[in-house]
Amino acid sequence: MLDILRRIIQEVNAAPDLQKALDIIVQRVRVNVGVDVASVYLLDDEHNQYVLMATEGFRKDAIGKVRIDKGKGLIGMVADREEPVNLDDAPSHPQYLFIVETGEQPYHGFLGVPIIQYRKVLGVLVVRQREYRKFGEEEEAFLVTLAAQLAGAITHAGASGEISRLLEDRDEVSVTLRGLPGAPGLAIGQAMVVYPPQNLDVIPDRKAADIEAEVECFYEAVAAVRDDLRDYSNRLSGSLPAEDLALFDALLLMLDSDSLVGKTVERIREGNWAPGALRQTIADHVQVFETMEDAYLRERASDIRDLGRRIVTHIQSDRPAHRPVYSSTVLVGKEISAGQLAEVPTEHLAGIVSTSGSSSSHVAILAQALGIPAVMGVEDLPVARLEGQTLIADGYRGEVFVRPSELLLDEFLRLQAEETELTRGLKEMADQPSVTPDGVHVPLYLNTGLVFSDIELSMHSESDGVGLYRTEIPFLIREQFPGEEEQLRIYRKALEAFAPRPVTLRTLDVGGDKVLSYFPVKEDNPFLGWRGIRISLDHPEIFLTQLRAMLRASVGLDNLTILLPMVSTVTEIDIAMTFISQAMGELIEEGMEVHRPPIGVMIEVPSAVYQVAAMAQRVDFFSIGTNDLTQYLLAVDRNNTRVAGLYQTLHPAVLRAIRQVVDAAHQLGKPVSVCGEMAGDPTAVLALLGLGVDSLSMSVSSLPRVKWVIRSFARAEARDLLDQVWAMEDPRAIRTFYNSVLVQGGLGRLVRPGN
Ligand code: PEP
Ligand code: MG
Repeated sequence: MLDILRRIIQEVNAAPDLQKALDIIVQRVRVNVGVDVASVYLLDDEHNQYVLMATEGFRKDAIGKVRIDKGKGLIGMVADREEPVNLDDAPSHPQYLFIVETGEQPYHGFLGVPIIQYRKVLGVLVVRQREYRKFGEEEEAFLVTLAAQLAGAITHAGASGEISRLLEDRDEVSVTLRGLPGAPGLAIGQAMVVYPPQNLDVIPDRKAADIEAEVECFYEAVAAVRDDLRDYSNRLSGSLPAEDLALFDALLLMLDSDSLVGKTVERIREGNWAPGALRQTIADHVQVFETMEDAYLRERASDIRDLGRRIVTHIQSDRPAHRPVYSSTVLVGKEISAGQLAEVPTEHLAGIVSTSGSSSSHVAILAQALGIPAVMGVEDLPVARLEGQTLIADGYRGEVFVRPSELLLDEFLRLQAEETELTRGLKEMADQPSVTPDGVHVPLYLNTGLVFSDIELSMHSESDGVGLYRTEIPFLIREQFPGEEEQLRIYRKALEAFAPRPVTLRTLDVGGDKVLSYFPVKEDNPFLGWRGIRISLDHPEIFLTQLRAMLRASVGLDNLTILLPMVSTVTEIDIAMTFISQAMGELIEEGMEVHRPPIGVMIEVPSAVYQVAAMAQRVDFFSIGTNDLTQYLLAVDRNNTRVAGLYQTLHPAVLRAIRQVVDAAHQLGKPVSVCGEMAGDPTAVLALLGLGVDSLSMSVSSLPRVKWVIRSFARAEARDLLDQVWAMEDPRAIRTFYNSVLVQGGLGRLVRPGN
């Protein structure tokens, strides 16, 4: 059964559009469950009806015509109950509805299962039998499993299939895709698709600039791969058995086959560039193999993919490293690396759209630092078809509009202008202090990780310093661990740019989703694994090099502050302190005038929340990393779009944890900052102000907005508001409450431009 299930899912996923996908489902279900009729009804939201979308066994002309009102008939019952309904004699059920259009005889056996995705009933999958038949547990389980898997496939096929079709049309058809807000702002520009060379699926179609050159380049790449394969085969001939070596012969044969090479060349001659043409050919082959009965042959699909990857790698190595960019570029990809982002000059980088990740993903954080709007987790983005298309990315709502209509474009241009106006208005506040009306100074710091020439100098002057310098960013965009001198240069630039204001350098926080290409760590649960301080303490050579570079960077400036990430026990602080003392001792011995900088701990793990008193004996300050703290407190992966709705920084548990930290730290006279994205969210700032947080650290684009909030609300008022919030249980209600406070206070434009 599992094998059948897997094959059906594969076929559905490969279907070019939703209708084909549904047709496949009913055909396969009818045969494999051995029933007279298999049908799928999908919900038509607009009319509140379930529509027959595909059937095997009923008259085909009923498709699209049979419509059953929500709540009516057995179909309505399955959907309402959100569970299977299994009847041996359907007509005798009081809710049975006789439908003429389907050519329905009184079928007796009935098994209907709901198709549900993210709690929403999308439709119903039904099988019927002419005879009386009570379906067995096994059959019910099969349909339930299939329906659960199909829900995703239907959503996906529905979205990307329809979208792909729309994109092929000549008419301007705007397509709206939903993702997650990544970095605030509105971007309008041309899509530039980036893709890792090894991932064939996301290679875009692109018009070949010179067809003959493209064909030539493809042939050369094929020849190069052929040479490589022969080399491998010769090299391994002594150590591999003949049957394994035969794989190379099979690949070589494939390389010579007309169906691969000839077909690709044909596609290039039709106008596609070589990588795009090859992707299509490989996809065709893979699909054929993946649907084969024979398990061995099915496995060959991965060999074909591998072959494709090899050819593309050779093609790419012949291409100039830098592609031309659009004057207003929206970078689009499945996963966008920091390096790819850095390839587009910032003045041309309008926005970022990614099919994966969320606002706390690395690329989103970079986008926030650069003030570039980003939309993350747009799962249904038809990446391969987007190159050069006009896109609007709404980083506030997490929406992407592909090929927007004139009307939509005008509307967004208006919103963008309004936003520029707001930013300009806020700039006037730049020279004013971040002080509440009741006289509380709340210093505003920057979160960054960039080398400082990258940020406008004017932005520096607005902040009180750097509250979080993510040192892993320079590590991530290099090809090996930067040495002490190189790190020294980077840190010195940052410290100099802000002196005498403090710059908080956080020690290396890799692991989790931040993987260094030159230091790969494979773990089942990377966020609960080897990350942050844990790696540093296990690798004194890396940690000490970094500490030395930090301390040296501060010589003569003395504006360094050190922050330790991912601390979960006090012992880690003790060990880290020993290393800091060692590094200082060494430098003093070497004749340098280093001073002990203030040292702080990030509170981002629940265990740390309860150890603040013990930690306060050891460190000078605390900085709450709400991105991780929220993820760990709520057990919600910060990068998983499926559970993104549960990721709520204004959750009562998060607010109570922050209260606990602030109260415990203040009792021992230690200040508390917040440096997670929450600190840059104007709505959440109202809560943080009430909680008594001493300072906030955020990305550069949030700074003027947050200052506006601070200058508009007294701390006493924020405390009163918080008193009302403690009675609230639903994070969304808390957000709505604070949003309405902003609106009433005349700051509604911070909630959303145009509002
Ligand atoms: C955090 O976890 O809130 C934080 C600021 O650290 P990072 O986002 O770099 O994990
Ligand atoms: Mg963190």
